[in-house]
Amino acid sequence: MTDILVIGAGVAGASVAYFLASAGAEVTVIDAGLHAASTVPAALLNPVRGQSGAVDAGAVEGMALTWALVQALITAGYDVPHGKTGVLRPVPDPRTRARFEQRLPADLAHSWLAPEDSPVFLSPGWNAVLHLPEGGWLDGAAFTRALLATSGARVVRGRAQSWEATSVALEDGTQREAGAVVWCGGSVGASWADHAATHRAGTMLLLSQPVSTLPISFGAYLSPAQGGGVLGATFEQPSPVWNAGPLPLGSLAWLLNKGEALADLSGVRVTGRWSGSRLSGLRVGQTPQGWWQLTGLGSKGFLLGPLRARELAEQMGR
Ligand SMILES: Cc1cc2nc3c(=O)[nH]c(=O)nc-3n(C[C@H](O)[C@H](O)[C@H](O)COP(=O)(O)OP(=O)(O)OC[C@H]3O[C@@H](n4cnc5c(N)ncnc54)[C@H](O)[C@@H]3O)c2cc1C
Repeated sequence: MTDILVIGAGVAGASVAYFLASAGAEVTVIDAGLHAASTVPAALLNPVRGQSGAVDAGAVEGMALTWALVQALITAGYDVPHGKTGVLRPVPDPRTRARFEQRLPADLAHSWLAPEDSPVFLSPGWNAVLHLPEGGWLDGAAFTRALLATSGARVVRGRAQSWEATSVALEDGTQREAGAVVWCGGSVGASWADHAATHRAGTMLLLSQPVSTLPISFGAYLSPAQGGGVLGATFEQPSPVWNAGPLPLGSLAWLLNKGEALADLSGVRVTGRWSGSRLSGLRVGQTPQGWWQLTGLGSKGFLLGPLRARELAEQMGR
């Protein structure tokens, strides 16, 4: 397979294009240019997930690979706003701490701090703080854009209507042929294609200034971002379809409450919002129909997307 069509230019498609092109394939990326979750203004590289404290197999390797790519892109002259600052995970009670502790792999650098020893101010009431010094944040759009640009892949603006193992039909009536097709359409694409899937919408409030010099995450997250900060989470009810509706007022109140539980928001202005939808249920590999896919990266698109893309490129014989 020397020529490959990738559908979708989010972090999944850009990463697949990068690894396939690095291995010598001629890659064309077809992208509708709409609704990429990967434009998230500040994505955390946080290997310890949610309120369960689960750590994916590959999280430590995935985090190291994404940071290595950020470094390579910066060395190549791209601007990728990021902070390899570490991440703080405050926990509310000893039970949560015990659950987190049980799941921490030996090769993940970490330490537990008393809340009063936190390197940044935390709102009162936390039981302990997990410090993950190798985590941090990055600008999703800048990282994805730079990865795609450095891959050298040709980018075609258009919406794929249907696809098979070696061809893609576009909405404008044209057809493209290649040695292989890789589907990386994310939440919006799965919805357009009527794939059975679970979608989760979430929102970032853009803040006039960073509330903290490093991300703080439990329930929601506060993070520095290019030109200020964000307060965000994926918290809407799971849905069988992608949904780009307006932010419900109840969600705004929920998010602000979660933010205040983490740190002191006084003096910080909300300057805008970004909303997106992510897809659950990771799928990596070849489908029975013969086309390949990297989809369902959930809330870990930047933690695991490049790693899974490298694995897919290897599976494709690259
Ligand atoms: C609120 C929120 C917070 C998040 N926070 C984090 C975080 O802290 N850390 C982290 O790692 N991840 C985070 N994520 C998850 C991350 O954003 C996603 O996992 C990741 O962006 C998914 O990438 P993707 O490439 O699969 O899909 P997308 O980025 O959605 O890209 C899909 C692309 O495919 C295109 N497309 C779809 N269908 C077609 C078609 N038929 N033809 C042509 N083009 C098509 C779309 O236009 C789009 O450009 C967050 C997500 C949300 C919503």
